[in-house]
Amino acid sequence: MSTTDPRRLIPRTDRLLALPAARDARQRLGPQAVGALVRDLQEQARQGTIRPEQVEPALLDALRHPPAGLTAVLNATGVLVHTNLGRAPLSAAAVTALLDASGYVDVELDLDTGQRSRRGAAARAALLAACPSAPEALVVNNGAAALVLATTALAAGREVVISRGELIEIGAGFRLPDLIASTGARLREVGTTNRTHLRDYADAMGPDTGCLLKVHPSNFRVQGFTAAVPVAELRGLTGEHGVPLVVDIGSGLLAPDPLLPDEPDAATTLTDGADLVTASGDKLLGGPQAGLLLGRADLVTTLARHPLARAVRADKLTLAALTATVLAGRTPVGDALHADPDRLRERADRLAAAVGAPVVAHDGRVGGGGAPGVPLPGWAVALPESAATRLRTGRPAVLPRVHDGACLVDLRCIPEADDERLLGAVRAALGS
Ligand SMILES: *Cc1c(COP(=O)(O)O)cnc(C)c1O
Repeated sequence: MSTTDPRRLIPRTDRLLALPAARDARQRLGPQAVGALVRDLQEQARQGTIRPEQVEPALLDALRHPPAGLTAVLNATGVLVHTNLGRAPLSAAAVTALLDASGYVDVELDLDTGQRSRRGAAARAALLAACPSAPEALVVNNGAAALVLATTALAAGREVVISRGELIEIGAGFRLPDLIASTGARLREVGTTNRTHLRDYADAMGPDTGCLLKVHPSNFRVQGFTAAVPVAELRGLTGEHGVPLVVDIGSGLLAPDPLLPDEPDAATTLTDGADLVTASGDKLLGGPQAGLLLGRADLVTTLARHPLARAVRADKLTLAALTATVLAGRTPVGDALHADPDRLRERADRLAAAVGAPVVAHDGRVGGGGAPGVPLPGWAVALPESAATRLRTGRPAVLPRVHDGACLVDLRCIPEADDERLLGAVRAALGS
């Protein structure tokens, strides 16, 4: 290295680590994490990706936003439950509950008596209050775990009777029939892809039946010459045979939502006669990743006592965030679903005017397999397609929808408080 080599100007490790912010961060984040940040920035300066004088400010910035392996994203797709973006964003109440639960907490202890208590008692109480038609509730790791636990405990070594119209693939090649078969239960398929009748179920019921399973085919719709048997009709058959009727409703709506008339909810499904309902916590319920089991007390108790329940149990952070979500009743997903179209238009107009781009009509979607084909009318700011990559790779990262040669920025799933940050990101992406 010559004396004029700019690399000589790269700040030395000891000097960077002696900065007050770095010392403070070593306490907060640990010396290893801070050392790695310093080395990384020095290396970037050696490679010429940043200038030597940028090392110190970049370090200070990085220490304020330490890498957690996950990057926060502004969801400008208009898709409420975006699986690639971690599905439901948590409410402020749920975030507070998460932080409060991050230390030691009474997750399995009764502080009054000093005795061990039932795990997740508060989450259970919140769910039962929000869904009074459920006699009992259990929270597990996710919707798939709820289904595995139910079919294992009720039908391992026996048959699960299910319609051929409901043998769905959820996403990423993940197939419900494979999941059920992995529990040691045998699938007893009835009916056809488009039509299944009560007599098809009736013919399949017998001494080997462990349970009858009805699955909401959440991510697609069969149209035309179709028939399915509603829960209210299946209940007579399962009651006659003394076999549990299990219904996987998918999205986790506890009560009906007038905007989504075809989306099943737990309360109605239980009132119609389901013995057990399974659902996800992080779709339309708007909470953390979790699986809900709601229904008959004897069945839920059987499931809770099954050895597999221990392998799929929810952790204290999930229980805390879920409890707060259910108690608050209002969630970012619900707010985005019910967003006022006029307000969305005003916000889109403001962004469009600031960057000189047009506003176009744009439908949002529920996503995450919920309410397929149901448009949520709204607006998007239409940018040149080339802006999409820069938006995605900028900071804050913004995920737009690329469609028909345009980069569409839909504000439905972006909290209003982030409109200024979004504008900054769009300006940076357009180079304006
Ligand atoms: C999403 C979904 C599942 C899987 O739930 P996860 O929480 O993703 O494990 C199962 N069944 C239906 C009908 C679904 O929509």
